[in-house]
Amino acid sequence: LTRLYSPLTALANVRVDVMTALVSFERIFEVLDLKPMITEKPDARTVPGGGVSVEFDDVRFSYPAANQYSLASLEDVSTVDGRGGDEVLHGISFRAEPGQMVALVGSSGAGKSTIASLLPRLYDVDSGAVRLSGVDVRDLGFAAIRDTVGVVTQDGHLFHDTIRANLEYARPGAGEDEIWDALARARLAELVRALPDGLDTVVGERGYRLSGGERQRLTIARLLLAQPRVIVLDEATAHLDSESEAAVGEALTQALAGRTALVIAHRLSTVRAADEILVVEAGRIVERGTHEALLAAGGRYAEFYQTQFADEPAAA
Ligand code: ATP
Repeated sequence: LTRLYSPLTALANVRVDVMTALVSFERIFEVLDLKPMITEKPDARTVPGGGVSVEFDDVRFSYPAANQYSLASLEDVSTVDGRGGDEVLHGISFRAEPGQMVALVGSSGAGKSTIASLLPRLYDVDSGAVRLSGVDVRDLGFAAIRDTVGVVTQDGHLFHDTIRANLEYARPGAGEDEIWDALARARLAELVRALPDGLDTVVGERGYRLSGGERQRLTIARLLLAQPRVIVLDEATAHLDSESEAAVGEALTQALAGRTALVIAHRLSTVRAADEILVVEAGRIVERGTHEALLAAGGRYAEFYQTQFADEPAAA
């Protein structure tokens, strides 16, 4: 009986596959018909030359609800413009002058990553504005934002390709000298020089296995080559041993020098160096100031410092 049935089952399966394929095609058209939620204005601007200031002006934000795709075919656009999710940021205001570093600290889920994601315009604000050198990011071209704001996350994405290709991606046409200079400043030159294939070593899943710290340093080298005027950095270091952590720290100091930076800070050395620390709690800035001033104030930051940083060697 099983033998009799199995071809039938197989046939049934084929039918299911075909149906799935058809459904997928429909979905593709549906997707093609979608209007992206972030759009570039036809008369998009660029960021003025020189050092860049960063400004958050009374920013309120809620994540768009998952079902809120704006179908271009829908006539009543207003139905898809309304926000569905709960408000995550409730009036965030701060400013970083050109070359300054602003550090975000706060417990998990406070809204730090969300604040950081609004600077390269991964989402649009509900109200208020995010500005780069006075220009609302919604008025900037995508290329202008991409060229101005460099983002470094915890697990920097590397392509399954050679070290050279991973670096040239940051600046096509970068010369051999520039590449080695970036590697040296990211404290990675020695390692790469010792590899049998040097710059042509393939890294990634099926290639040479870089450690967490080495991967981070390679993304920092990429950043040093790209030379964005603004850096958004999530400096989680949980998976690094103290030696890699020191090397990554040095590389970051190099990368941040002279640039405007918004950093989700996990290192004592970073918060100490920050021009302003913003303590974020439940979508609001509850305290702000320098490390010394906030410690002296004995408030939320001082508490946070005790639990997060007090046992770090540089703490004093
Ligand atoms: P962590 O230190 O854990 O990264 P965080 O301070 O960066 O936390 P966010 O990740 O910004 O906090 O989260 C702020 C709030 O927004 C949380 O309530 C979180 O659940 C919510 N949130 C974050 N990302 C999304 C998303 N993609 N869609 C919907 N809600 C989100």
